Amino acid sequence: MRIGIIGAGQLGQMLGFAARDLGMQCRFVDPAPKPPAAVCGPVIQEAFDNADALARLAASSDVVTYEFENVPVDALLKIAERVPVYPPPVALGHAQDRLAEKQLFQRLAIPLPEYHRVDTFDDLELAANRLGFPLVLKTRRLGYDGKGQFVIRRPAELGIAWHECGGADLIAEQWVNFDYEVSAIGARNVSGDIICYPLTRNAHAAGILQTSIAPLQNEVLTRRAEKYVTTLLRHLDYVGVLALELFVRGEQLLANEFAPRVHNSGHWSIEGAEPSQFTAHLLAISGQALPEPRLMAHAGMLNLIGKIPENLQLPSAATLHDYGKAPRPGRKLGHITVLGDSAAARDTLLAQLCETVMHSTPQ
Ligand code: AMP
Repeated sequence: MRIGIIGAGQLGQMLGFAARDLGMQCRFVDPAPKPPAAVCGPVIQEAFDNADALARLAASSDVVTYEFENVPVDALLKIAERVPVYPPPVALGHAQDRLAEKQLFQRLAIPLPEYHRVDTFDDLELAANRLGFPLVLKTRRLGYDGKGQFVIRRPAELGIAWHECGGADLIAEQWVNFDYEVSAIGARNVSGDIICYPLTRNAHAAGILQTSIAPLQNEVLTRRAEKYVTTLLRHLDYVGVLALELFVRGEQLLANEFAPRVHNSGHWSIEGAEPSQFTAHLLAISGQALPEPRLMAHAGMLNLIGKIPENLQLPSAATLHDYGKAPRPGRKLGHITVLGDSAAARDTLLAQLCETVMHSTPQ
């Protein structure tokens, strides 16, 4: 089976490693020279919307997928005329526009924070009157890892937020005083079978994911999140892995956004579950059966952002994944997974690891 992947970053690399174990071949499109996934297969070094490069990818693949969300939907629809493209481009279309995404959550009765569409400064003032302060102003498109958003704390900041966010095509969102954040990862295959991973608890700093732990031990929230993910997967006639990010406030779950792809908050599944999210994605898009995920342990994941410490002494229960990227502040360069026999053992290991990484010298 030949898998064409648009994007050759770390997600492509981890898909590539999983593909190798399944006896599949991968080929990528990515404009970067020597991207992380180049170790897994040939890379057509062109822009993500280069029609010729995408046509070449489609011509040499049995199925095409993407690890990068800013691929033009039209470009995907074009290659879908020649070869199956999963997840379906319509799902990507919703995920690329925060307004369409929120309207979809509403239609499917998935609870979400209150929001307002903002096209003019008057809209923003009206939204502020209705939502109160603080509120979050977000660009509808091209925002990720907290980029393209501004937390407005008082009326005097409305003007600068308006300019910072580009002054058009925005969403104003109620500030959620959440207890913590979770993600619900599920997969659906070509036959429509669905699997769900246990709920993962995530901690972000400056909008970037820092740590994840799984399974979250809360049956009520887990069942509810599974229901939301299943609803999304069915409604979108989805094929592949999908991650739904949610805020937890008391017993309430509020949907923030979904990613139509394998997700950083599921990296723990490489060591922590069988199959991993990467294997599940490949099985799903290649028309194979999806085994129910079996948990191997209590898992934790720490992102290595901006630096990978030198001479890291890791316990045997920890695994380092170095994506082979050049260091740059704020850049995800790798991650470490830890496994514990109990949630407490996992939490201790993860806390020690965070301490070591924070006080280490960069490579
Ligand atoms: P996003 O790009 O929408 O996923 O936002 C990145 C992170 O910013 C989220 O994971 C939250 O930690 C925080 N955030 C985004 N929207 C809100 C909100 N409405 N209320 C509180 N925190 C938020």
